[in-house]
Amino acid sequence: MISGKLIVLTGPSGVGKGTLVRTLLSRHPKLYLSISATTRSPRLGEINGQDYYFINNTKFESMIQQNQLLEWAQYAGNYYGTPRINVQEKINKGFIVLLEIEVAGAEAIKKTFSNALRIFILPPSLKELESRLRGRATDSEQSITKRLKLAKEELAVSQKFDKVITNHNLEKTLRQLELIIFSTQS
Ligand code: ADP
Ligand code: 5GP
Repeated sequence: MISGKLIVLTGPSGVGKGTLVRTLLSRHPKLYLSISATTRSPRLGEINGQDYYFINNTKFESMIQQNQLLEWAQYAGNYYGTPRINVQEKINKGFIVLLEIEVAGAEAIKKTFSNALRIFILPPSLKELESRLRGRATDSEQSITKRLKLAKEELAVSQKFDKVITNHNLEKTLRQLELIIFSTQS
């Protein structure tokens, strides 16, 4: 078990997690976003080591075996996981580390990092979620269908998380997040 300041942002794909995190990072130098490993192929413009560590199944499975991941999950046909070493290093250096991860991984992190603060971001509605996923124009029709199906299951467990916030208006959501993140600072 490791201790320190870890904030986990979760919620269905398309709810706005990435947008929220990017803005928070641009405003607060003390925040650090953990870079995940994934077996998903890079989207246009994504950079290895910056957006994700893009690795193959064999490498990912070896990271699981060697206990190098703080949490991991399979999502829409690919593996995603948080490399343990980066998180520990940054916390030791005094950063507030953010994880932007899917719901199963966010649930699982309690086992390896019991004092993580886990925040669930809700969409205003499923219809709005679909419209955000389509508006983002990064996923195939098949991937959007998978993500919406998963979203229904994910929304059903939102109340298990420490905080639940609905992302209606981006700026309002950011203010709510800032209050939570910085008021719990040790
Ligand atoms: P996630 O990282 O959760 O998959 P994104 O951050 O990629 O979601 O957001 C999905 C889409 O929704 C993006 O096009 C983004 O600009 C848009 N979006 C995010 N937050 C809001 C909001 N509060 N209102 C309207 N659109 C939003
Ligand atoms: P995407 O393919 O859209 O980049 O990510 C799909 C989902 O995987 C998103 O909900 C994203 O938050 C989640 N995700 C990204 N990195 C990780 C990770 O390290 N662990 C887990 N469990 N989920 C992740």
